[in-house]
Amino acid sequence: MTAPEVFEAVRPYFLERYGNPSSMHSFGGKLARDVAVAREKLAELLGATPQEIIFMSGGTESDSTAIMSALATMSDRREIVTTRVEHPAVLNLCKHLARTKGYVVRWLSVDKEGKLNMDEVRSQITDQTAVVSVMWANNETGVIFPVREIAEIAYERGALVHTDAVQAVGKIPMNLDSSSIDFLSLSGHKLHSVKGVGALYIKKGTRFSPFIIGGHQESDRRGGTENVPGIVGLGVAASLALQELNPAGLRMRRLRDRLQKGLLEAVPRARVNGNLESRLPNTLNIGFEFVEGEAILMRMDDKGICASSGSACTSGALEPSHVLRAMGVPFTAVHGSIRFSLSRYTTEEDIEYVIREVPGIIEFLRSISPFGRENFDAACTIH
Ligand code: PLP
Repeated sequence: MTAPEVFEAVRPYFLERYGNPSSMHSFGGKLARDVAVAREKLAELLGATPQEIIFMSGGTESDSTAIMSALATMSDRREIVTTRVEHPAVLNLCKHLARTKGYVVRWLSVDKEGKLNMDEVRSQITDQTAVVSVMWANNETGVIFPVREIAEIAYERGALVHTDAVQAVGKIPMNLDSSSIDFLSLSGHKLHSVKGVGALYIKKGTRFSPFIIGGHQESDRRGGTENVPGIVGLGVAASLALQELNPAGLRMRRLRDRLQKGLLEAVPRARVNGNLESRLPNTLNIGFEFVEGEAILMRMDDKGICASSGSACTSGALEPSHVLRAMGVPFTAVHGSIRFSLSRYTTEEDIEYVIREVPGIIEFLRSISPFGRENFDAACTIH
């Protein structure tokens, strides 16, 4: 949800403070200062400097801008290294670049816990690599990748490094000042800001080529009138996230672990997808075997429980999740995999309610599934 503090801070920018920050008059000039304050707050959350931040329309634009800039400034190199489990914002861009521009994409695989193989990372990044794009944390399983370590390897081979940190920013500390990461993408709505705003961090000294060309906004790095309400909201959201980072992280982890334990104890043939140690504190992906994820989502929705099967951004399609397939999650569990995302607003009551309601939903769906109750029991003994 949008943080109430963000909503209150943003409201006046639709009513009294609706000017354009690039205008010469003082009405607009005040807004330019408000944008600058938001940039400082976001930089503080990342451990960056304000000059290293460009505001954008969201995570997707930020991902595209970073990768396209890296390819433009490294034009003598034609290879991209990325993972098979990226969000479509990176995955589909890389496929598009391979198809339409002839780039060679080296896809890093993951193991059954969703982790990368560092030997493979070392062998795939070469002196032909223009950019390595590896997400900070996976949006479906919450598994955290060793982006700093990967950045060191890329740095030695002269490649640029981008990370899609849309899921990680505000959930775990970043401290970019001590890393070799060139570009980092984030999105406002994952930080309880409003939708339609995001940002790109570009490390000081990294060469940059703009993706959206137009006016002189964002120091000539991104054309287009600034989304002032969104930017101000993102600044407030970043401050709140920084204040809450440690206490909220601990609370979410405790509640998430309680949810995991409660569901695993109450539902037979259920398994966690993703590594248990290196995982965001707010994410739980559980595969309920022999049941259809969309049916679980609908029944949960009737009870007021919102979750997603596969990625929320793609669950309009009934394709099994590319992330779970890349992890080799068995066919019997991939379709019934559900991602629960907690936030700092999730309460103990919410978690207890889910633990009470979900087992009955799974039980019911299994009883009416083509497997049938008896066949389900039989299948359990066979597998
Ligand atoms: N990257 C990741 C990991 C995401 O989870 C999302 C959206 O949820 C995006 C990119 C796209 O962000 P946006 O919707 O702000 O464009």
